[in-house]
Amino acid sequence: MQLAHRITRPLRLSLFNGRPYFNPLAQLFHLLLAEEALSVERTYSFFCSSRTPANALLPVVTKPLVDAYTHCPLCGSPDYASQQDGTRHCRACDHRDFNNPITAVAALILDPQDRLLLIRRAKDPAKGLLAMPGGFVDPGESLEQAIHREIAEEIGLALTGIRYLCSHPNDYTYRGLTRPVCDVFFQARATSFNVVLQREEVADWQLRPLGEIAPAELAFDSMRHALATLRARP
Ligand SMILES: [Zn+2]
Repeated sequence: MQLAHRITRPLRLSLFNGRPYFNPLAQLFHLLLAEEALSVERTYSFFCSSRTPANALLPVVTKPLVDAYTHCPLCGSPDYASQQDGTRHCRACDHRDFNNPITAVAALILDPQDRLLLIRRAKDPAKGLLAMPGGFVDPGESLEQAIHREIAEEIGLALTGIRYLCSHPNDYTYRGLTRPVCDVFFQARATSFNVVLQREEVADWQLRPLGEIAPAELAFDSMRHALATLRARP
C-alpha cells in the first residue's frame, strides 16, 4: 500500500521557459523514488551526481519536507498518512506534524543617501538574483540576535537603528526538499559600509536607490513585498 502511495504521489517539476520540463531521466527519478530501499535524499544525490554542464537543464524534483518521511519520526510506524490539510498523522501513536514554518530574518539596510544595500546570491535557490542579506534563525536565538549575527557573518557589517518592517510567507528548497518559511524583515542602518563578503553565499553587493530596483531583480516574493512596504513607509 505504501509503495503504491509513493508511486502515485504527485511530484513537482521545475519549469523551463514557463513549461513543466520532463524527460526520460525524470521518469527514472520517479522509479528510484518509488523503491523502498532508496531514501529521497539518496535518490536526489544520485540524480545530482549525474548532472553535468551538458544536462544542467534537467528538471529538479522537489517535494515538501512534511511528505519526505516514510515513517513516523516519533514511533517509527509506517502508518504515517498525509492529511487533506497538509499535516501528517501517525495512526499508531497519534503524533501529528503540523508542517510549521521555520523562521528567517533579513535586513533592509539604508545608507545615508537612503540607498538600499542588496547582495547577489552566489547559491541556489535564486542564484544570481538580488536579495536583502539575512538567513535562518538558529535554535535559542531571538530575531534581533539572528539579524545581527547573519549580517555580521554575511557582509561583515554592524547594524544600528533596527526597526521591524514586515513579514511574509516563503518557502525554501534545499536538496529537493521544500520547507515553509516565515521571512521577517527589519529596516536598519549600518555603522559603516566596509563590506566583507562571505564568498560562499554572496557573489557581490551594491547600493541602489529604492525607486530604481525592479521587483523582478529580487530573489523571492517575500522580498518584493518587503521592498514595497519600505517604499510605502513615510
Ligand atoms: Zn508514531
